[in-house]
Amino acid sequence: MNDQSQSKTQTLLRELPSVDRLLNTAMAVDMMLAYGRSLTVESLRHSLDTARSAILSGEARYAPMNAVLVDEARLWLEQFLAPTLQPVINGTGVIVHTNLGRAPLSQAARQAIDEATKGYSTLEYDLASGQRGSRTVHAEQLLTRLTEAEAGLVVNNNAAAVLLMLTTLCQGKEVIISRGQLVEIGGGFRIPDVMAQSGAKLVEVGTTNRTHLRDYAKAITENTAALLVAHHSNYKIIGFTSEPTLAELAQLAHEHNLLLLYDQGSGALLDSSPYGLEPEPTVLDGLAAGADVVAFSGDKLLGGPQAGVLVGRQELITRLKRHPLARAVRADKLCLAGLSATLTHYLTENALTEIPIWRMITRPVAEIGEEADTWAARLQERGIRAEVVVGRSTVGGGSLPGTSLPSRVVAVQHNDLEHLAARLRQEKIPVIGRIQDGRFLIDPRTVLPEQVEILLQSLVNCAAE
Ligand SMILES: *Cc1c(COP(=O)(O)O)cnc(C)c1O
Repeated sequence: MNDQSQSKTQTLLRELPSVDRLLNTAMAVDMMLAYGRSLTVESLRHSLDTARSAILSGEARYAPMNAVLVDEARLWLEQFLAPTLQPVINGTGVIVHTNLGRAPLSQAARQAIDEATKGYSTLEYDLASGQRGSRTVHAEQLLTRLTEAEAGLVVNNNAAAVLLMLTTLCQGKEVIISRGQLVEIGGGFRIPDVMAQSGAKLVEVGTTNRTHLRDYAKAITENTAALLVAHHSNYKIIGFTSEPTLAELAQLAHEHNLLLLYDQGSGALLDSSPYGLEPEPTVLDGLAAGADVVAFSGDKLLGGPQAGVLVGRQELITRLKRHPLARAVRADKLCLAGLSATLTHYLTENALTEIPIWRMITRPVAEIGEEADTWAARLQERGIRAEVVVGRSTVGGGSLPGTSLPSRVVAVQHNDLEHLAARLRQEKIPVIGRIQDGRFLIDPRTVLPEQVEILLQSLVNCAAE
C-alpha cells in the first residue's frame, strides 16, 4: 500500500462515526424502543465493524453515511431476531409431515388454545368446590366417550405414553413383542430403546416377516407382564407375512393373566378406507379386540396438537396417572385445550370438514385437479413453464404405511431446479415442494386455502427466468 492510499484509508476510517453518535440519530432511537439498548448497540457496532473492514480492504471508496449504517444495523437485527420456527407452505403432498410440524390445527382448536392461554384457566381448579382440581379431567371425558374406554390420560407425546405405560406396568418384568414390530420411527424413536428405558425386559419372538401365536405362547414365563403390539408405523412388509390378530393376542394374554398393550401410533379414530386409503386399525378396533391399554399420538391422524394419549382399563390408567413419571411427561394447557377441541369435532361429527388433515385426505381428486389447472394457467400467463401432471399425495407421519392418494400436481420446469427450490425456501413464507423427473412439483392437497395467493406470487418471483 502506498502512502497516498494509506492516508486515504486513515481519512475514511476517521470519517466513521462513533457508536454514541449513531445512537443519537432518530432512527437509532426508534430501534432502541423496539429492540432495547443492548441489541441496538451491538447491531450498530456490527455495522461499523463491517464498514471498517470494507475500508481496510480497499473495497470502500467512501465512508457510509450514518443513515446507511443504522439501516444495515436494523436489517442485521431483524434477521437475528426472526423466529427460527416459522410458517411454511407445504407443497409436498405429505399430509402429516413430521418435519413440517405434523397436523395443522382446526380453527376451533386454535381458538381454544388462545382462550386457554391468554389469561388464567381452570387447569387444575374445580369451580364447583373452589378447591384444587385435576388437569387429567380435561380431555378424559371426551376420550372415554369417543373410544368407549373406561379411562384416559393425556401426556406429552406418544413416545412418552409408551414409556409411561411400560414403566408403570412392566418394570422389571418381561414384555413379549414380535420381531417384525421392533420399529424405528423417524427421528430415532426405537421401540427397543424405549423398552430399555422403562426397565422392562424385551423378549423378541418370531421372525421379521412371520410371527405365530404359538411363538408368543412359548415365550411366556412367570416373569412375563405383558404382550406388546406396536403398529408397523412407517414401513410395511409386503408379501409372505403373518402376525396373530389383536383379538387372538388379547385372548392369549388374558388366559395367562397378562396385559395386552397396544401402541397404535397414528391415533386414527375414523376408518380411513372409504377415502381411498388402506384400512388401518383404529384406536377403537384396538380396544374392541381386547387391548388393556392403547397408546397413540395426538398430532398424526387424530389431527390435533402434539400429545400422547393412553386409553384403557380404569385400574391401569389410574396406576399410570399416579406414577411419578406421569408428572414428568404431563400435557400442558395448550395441548389439553387444543386436543379437547379436536376431539369435540369427532363427537359432533364434523371431523371431516373441520380438521385440516381430514379435509385434505377426503378432498376429491377432481377438485384438486381444477385447482391445479387454475394455478398452472395463472403461472403460464406470467411466462412460467407450468403444467398439471398426475401425482400422488401421501399421509406420512408414520401412519398408513404404503398408502397414497391420487392427486394432480403443478409441475414447473426450470433450467436450474435446485436453485429454484432454494429460492422458494428463502421466501418470506418459504415454499417446500419436491423435485422429480426434472420438474419442481407442488401438490395443492397440502396447501392451505389462505396460502394460495402467496404461493403463486412466490412461484412467479422465483421461477421467472
Ligand atoms: C409416531 C409413533 C410413535 C411416536 O409418537 P410421538 O407422538 O411422535 O412421540 C410411537 N409409536 C408408533 C407406533 C408411532 O407410529
